[in-house]
Amino acid sequence: MLIFRKPLENIDRPQMEADVVIVGGGPAGMACALRLSQLIDEHNAKNPGSPLSKENVYLLEKSREIGQHCLSGALLDPRAMRELLPGFEKEAPIDAEVTKEAVYFLTRTGKFKFPITPPPLRAHGNYVISINRFVKWLGSKVEEAGITVFTGFAGSELLFDGDRVSGVQTDDKGVDKHNQPKSNFEPGYDLKAKVTILAEGPRGSLTKQLVKKFSLDKDRNPQTYGVGVKELWEVPAGRIAPGEVIYTMGWPLTSKEYGGAWIYGSKDNIVSLGFVTDLGYRDPRLDPQRVLQEFKKHPYIAGLLAGGKMIRYGAKSLPYGGWWAIPPVAGDGWMIVGDSAGFLNSQRLKGIHLAIKSGMLAAETVFDALKKSDSSAATLNDFQRRVENSWIKEELWRVRNFHQGFEHGLWAGMLHAGLQQITGGRGLYSRYSAKPSHAHMKKLAELPADGGSTSLLTCITRARSTKRTSPPTSLFTTRISANSAA
Ligand SMILES: Cc1cc2nc3c(=O)[nH]c(=O)nc-3n(C[C@H](O)[C@H](O)[C@H](O)COP(=O)(O)OP(=O)(O)OC[C@H]3O[C@@H](n4cnc5c(N)ncnc54)[C@H](O)[C@@H]3O)c2cc1C
Repeated sequence: MLIFRKPLENIDRPQMEADVVIVGGGPAGMACALRLSQLIDEHNAKNPGSPLSKENVYLLEKSREIGQHCLSGALLDPRAMRELLPGFEKEAPIDAEVTKEAVYFLTRTGKFKFPITPPPLRAHGNYVISINRFVKWLGSKVEEAGITVFTGFAGSELLFDGDRVSGVQTDDKGVDKHNQPKSNFEPGYDLKAKVTILAEGPRGSLTKQLVKKFSLDKDRNPQTYGVGVKELWEVPAGRIAPGEVIYTMGWPLTSKEYGGAWIYGSKDNIVSLGFVTDLGYRDPRLDPQRVLQEFKKHPYIAGLLAGGKMIRYGAKSLPYGGWWAIPPVAGDGWMIVGDSAGFLNSQRLKGIHLAIKSGMLAAETVFDALKKSDSSAATLNDFQRRVENSWIKEELWRVRNFHQGFEHGLWAGMLHAGLQQITGGRGLYSRYSAKPSHAHMKKLAELPADGGSTSLLTCITRARSTKRTSPPTSLFTTRISANSAA
């Protein structure tokens, strides 16, 4: 696991000069690098006398291999990819095209199928992909294009020149747990860049520094988060067709929590399934990992998985705040793209296409900056304008109030969502406010003994009966033990 430490002080750090540094090699960062490379190639073909160089464009990715830290469902809306690489389907690693969708509401042992799939969850024409393999493939395109990708390097501090972002410092290597240099110590680099693009995914560490320094969250709704816990299963043939997509609501969450599950059929009898839980829950005993495990015990899900085996698992957060939580995305020497900015449509549980498109628009802006040799806020702010004039805004504006509508539970949320659907996303108010996710959590003493919900009660009871002979192993079981002792 990569741990961000405070950089050591009084260290001589090697310096490197760069035109552009992209921090983060997920869909946003890779699309940004590739689009910039395309624009430079086109420019150089038309202007052989005044070429631009890609030599000093760098992408930093903290994982050891490209794509290693990328985790998602994943259903790809192909819109942005078709703009970036027309005909990408011919060579990209695509597992299946979506041909069938269904949405179920689960009770503890039963299920109700929605008579029609709500429009936001219709995914015909989208692709089931492994985001890990997809980003690896995108990364190979970036490298083939001549852009240098440094894997295993994290941006750990932003560099400033007054109020201008002037690059990033990479992480020190060979530091012990007390933050002292070991014999293999290697200081991080000061990577001085004309433009720094933050593509770190949700809650990026450099993005947080930037937001704090310039109070970029002023007048914005707080960014809120969900966490998705995911497993990949290999199941016996015939359980779910490649390209079949199932969403569920309800069990094991109650009407007081927001979240749901996805099940995507992939090729070779592989099933991607996972549960996304909004972190704005009230009950401190609720554990999103436990929620997925309970979900898998539901008779419908257990039947799908019976006889299969889990082959991979992981968890990752998603930014849920939507349009009103997006900070200014450009300034003097910097831009923010993808999930780092909050470009995610929580109604569709989709952000890959928005990450790609935002990376492309940032690349188009930085290309202008390189041509003009001007990376001041005046030039880079054009990224804000490009976003606002693009389909990113169109898509996110329609769901600008969606997630906040669920702050008071599922039923109120459904009502707001219905109203928003017929008022172009407005609903009851022009701008719905939100509380930070953690502000919803109550103290145990403030909750009814059963957490105020029958589903959760059953979840707790089951956990208690299965854990009786072993010591508590997680916050969830510790709390239950504490509760049962009381
Ligand atoms: C459980 C789950 C299911 C999802 N399902 C879908 C779906 O089906 N369809 C869909 O479209 N979207 C889905 N999403 C959302 C989608 O995954 C994201 O919107 C998308 O991956 C955002 O891309 P990104 O490049 O902005 O960030 P990320 O994909 O998070 O990539 C960020 C990269 O930056 C690297 N990085 C971070 N910090 C640093 C640093 N300081 N220095 C160097 N490198 C750094 C990380 O290692 C990572 O590789 C899902 C998300 C989750 C969590």
